[in-house]
Amino acid sequence: MPTTYGNYINGTWVDSESGETFDVLNPSDTDEVVGRYQDSTTTDAEAAIEAAVAAQDEWATTPGPERGAILKQAGRLLEERKKETTTMLVREEGKTQSEAAGEVQRAIDIFAYYAQKARDLGGVVKSPSSPKKEIYTKREPLGTVGLITPWNYPIAIPAWKLAPALVTGNTVVVKPASAAPNVTRILVECLDEAGLPAGVVNVVTGSGSDVGKPLTEHEMIDGVSFTGSTAVGITVARTATEGLKRVQCEMGGKNPTVVMPSADIDEAVETLGVGAFGTTGQSCTAASRAIVHEQVYDEFVNAMVEYANSMDIGPGRNDPDMGPHVSNSELESTLEYVEIGQDEGATLETGGQRLTDPEYANGYYVSPAVFSDVDNDMQIAQEEIFGPVLSVIKASNFEEALALANDVEYGLAASIVTQDLTEADEFVDRIEAGVAKVNEKTTGLELHVPFGGFKNSSTNTYREQGDAGLDFFTTTKTIYRN
Ligand code: NAP
Repeated sequence: MPTTYGNYINGTWVDSESGETFDVLNPSDTDEVVGRYQDSTTTDAEAAIEAAVAAQDEWATTPGPERGAILKQAGRLLEERKKETTTMLVREEGKTQSEAAGEVQRAIDIFAYYAQKARDLGGVVKSPSSPKKEIYTKREPLGTVGLITPWNYPIAIPAWKLAPALVTGNTVVVKPASAAPNVTRILVECLDEAGLPAGVVNVVTGSGSDVGKPLTEHEMIDGVSFTGSTAVGITVARTATEGLKRVQCEMGGKNPTVVMPSADIDEAVETLGVGAFGTTGQSCTAASRAIVHEQVYDEFVNAMVEYANSMDIGPGRNDPDMGPHVSNSELESTLEYVEIGQDEGATLETGGQRLTDPEYANGYYVSPAVFSDVDNDMQIAQEEIFGPVLSVIKASNFEEALALANDVEYGLAASIVTQDLTEADEFVDRIEAGVAKVNEKTTGLELHVPFGGFKNSSTNTYREQGDAGLDFFTTTKTIYRN
């Protein structure tokens, strides 16, 4: 029998009032049920919000360093459970062993990073306008916040929202994605064991409509931090804004990598290969458009096809180059886009097929796809596919490549592969993306620098991570002492 996991409300693991659960299957082998989770209702979400509100005053007045010490200890406990958590992430989300280990380590590092920040929340003493007058600022917690997270980084993203929220004195209700809720549970077990007071963090599993939506509507919620698709994010932003809540939505991407004639083609192919097919293309920052100068277009396409064909695909526990999709619906969506691309007139050079050999029969496996002859106005060049599908688009010069890169509703991450410094400078100045990279894959983030998108990739109000990650969860009070 699979283990049934409860909601975490007011420091206790409890069942939903619905009495219903839902199963999460291993995407590498759907015969395996990874866990059974509470199919919660709005009433459960409200109970969690009430617990968080009740815990708020005491947590807000707990000294910052004390809050930081709990976070630091939770990070240590997660480190002790790193192997178990990595295995769970592989089983639950389908990540490869290396990808999962890297993500768990990121969560540990995030906790350590923000724990340290706890000592430095006091604000800045400004020069007084008269010798007797002091003016200084002080960060105060926003209050009670709802965190709504996606399945594709199911421990790193909850960690990068939870850590700054907690260290600055907020209380929290987390709604993890239904496809991968288990590693968030481990994170919260570590916080519990580290001594976090009851009610400060609450976790409720269940559908977006029954659990996520109440977090955006409830009058006692002060802020909503959401990461997920643009379609859902727009609804979240609208609802939260109507209730005058602070809201931060980080959403989808359609990330370009421009390849110029001066590029080393092997390097460009490696950059695009990892960027497009790593995590099975299921990263918000995944490269899904290669915009390639006509002088090197054919050479690039041939080498890219060779790269895709040489990839080792399999269950994450064997640490292949690429694991499965997280779910059947994500797999079906990718296969549908492969059909659409062909109907639109692009050339499917390789991949895009469901893998059906016996070793793949029980998983959501697809081969990495490369399309050439793609026009930038095709659906496959404009819409986020969230699978291992790369569209290769031809450009005749730098200006055209830059215009194509910007001609999309999203603006999350972008990169250029070039040896020409002027092109690199022009690119980073004029690309409409929150993260611009030179000779680097679009994926991959450092935890101490701000992260967020432009255009429809973000509400573009607050950034996540680094010092900027503290801003969303705090309000500034200015104090005059005469
Ligand atoms: P999603 O379908 O938008 O879901 C995200 C979260 O919102 C889930 O917890 C979901 O619950 C919940 N939700 C669904 N409907 C809701 C509603 N009406 N009100 C409140 N919450 C609701 O996204 P996903 O499929 O999990 O994740 C993939 C997407 O996330 C991609 O578009 C990717 O680009 C984006 N992403 C962006 C970033 C970034 O930083 N920019 C990072 C990672 C991922 P259920 O799971 O129960 O449906």
